[in-house]
Amino acid sequence: MPDCDYIVSGDYVLTMVDGAPPLRHGAVAVSAGKIVAIGGDKAIAAEYNPTTAVGGSGKAVLPGLINAHTHAAMVYFRGIADDLPLKEWLERHIWPAEGKWLSDEFVGDATELACCEMLKAGVTTFNDMYFFGDSSARAAKRMGMRAVLGAGVLDFPNASARNADEYIEKAEQFIKNWLGDDLITPSIAPHAPYTCSPATYMKAKRAAERYGVPLHTHLSETQHEVSEITKKYGKPPVELLEEIGFLDATVVAAHCVWVNDKEIEILAGRRTGVAHCIESNLKLAAGIAPVVSMLNKGVNVAFGSDGAASNNDLDIFSEMSFSARVHKAMSGDPTVINAFTALEMATSIGARVLGMGDKTGTLEVGKSADIVIVDLNKPHLAPFYDIYSVIVYSMRSPDVESVMVNGKLLVDRGKFIPKDEQEIMDKAWWWKDKIDGAKNI
Ligand SMILES: [Zn+2]
Repeated sequence: MPDCDYIVSGDYVLTMVDGAPPLRHGAVAVSAGKIVAIGGDKAIAAEYNPTTAVGGSGKAVLPGLINAHTHAAMVYFRGIADDLPLKEWLERHIWPAEGKWLSDEFVGDATELACCEMLKAGVTTFNDMYFFGDSSARAAKRMGMRAVLGAGVLDFPNASARNADEYIEKAEQFIKNWLGDDLITPSIAPHAPYTCSPATYMKAKRAAERYGVPLHTHLSETQHEVSEITKKYGKPPVELLEEIGFLDATVVAAHCVWVNDKEIEILAGRRTGVAHCIESNLKLAAGIAPVVSMLNKGVNVAFGSDGAASNNDLDIFSEMSFSARVHKAMSGDPTVINAFTALEMATSIGARVLGMGDKTGTLEVGKSADIVIVDLNKPHLAPFYDIYSVIVYSMRSPDVESVMVNGKLLVDRGKFIPKDEQEIMDKAWWWKDKIDGAKNI
């Protein structure tokens, strides 16, 4: 009887493998960070002798959720400027605040809070775009989280660089520092077509190609962006990036709210993944992305929270729930984005969008043990007739009980293991007082 590190069991094991039904009374054996067996709980218990058993009766086991677009360190700007349109929000509030406060210390501390928030809500992997990447990477590593960290690129200065070339030089150094890490995937993130010229986009792409790393950008977020880009270049943003040769399967495009049919065909043809950020889009009144058309045309669409300054949390359970509802209303068709599809977008499709389908996103032997256990024994979850329905339409992130990344238990029955949670929150309030104090001077 071979030993293993963990047996993770539950009334349901949702592997999210194409075509695989939910496994009733199932279990997953984990050893050295990987899933080594999946099957009925009795069969697994008879075959493996675990150091620790987690889960059990009244639980469901599912793959870790994927947050396909965020700016983790912006948690410290949560609620700093609400109820404003994107342009004013960015130009009058967010960019000035970032210019003043961003530093290695700020980004490191803030990323710890973001990881704590996401892990406790069942997110095991996030796709980030920000600055001071080494600090984010060290923080994510300390918290044990899997992340694709995109070094931000702009055509104008901020606290991290003076111009596009310097951002890209810094991105290359960051990539060299982290390439090959088991949890951190470095990437390059030209911010958006209205902040990066086509030349900057292609410099970023060439740099990414040199190291074989992914790219991450904002695309067609607002009508204003589309009209500005069309005025300047004679075509809308997706067509522009297609024409210059930027788009392919290594790119994650966040938002894609205002894309026409031709642009959806381009995204599908190039296998460019889309991060759908419905809560951020609703809050900034950016609009509602044509996700149903994208899915119908074969575009891989995952969920992103965007930064906490425009959401205002990093919760993928609520992204699933909002999306599954809003697109029904928008299309007048209650059958679209059913509960199973929503959970796929948050797990297996999410991993595919990030180019990590071989590593995470489903529960399969040989994949990393990125696993979430949810508690089904709650009043708002009783009774249920379909496990996917209860997870997408009734469950909320506090129902997450335990979370494992790469075979390490990071949340154990609600307790955050990597660091004292109160200490992380106290640090957030310390920074908030500093930011507020400076405002009042
Ligand atoms: Zn964003």
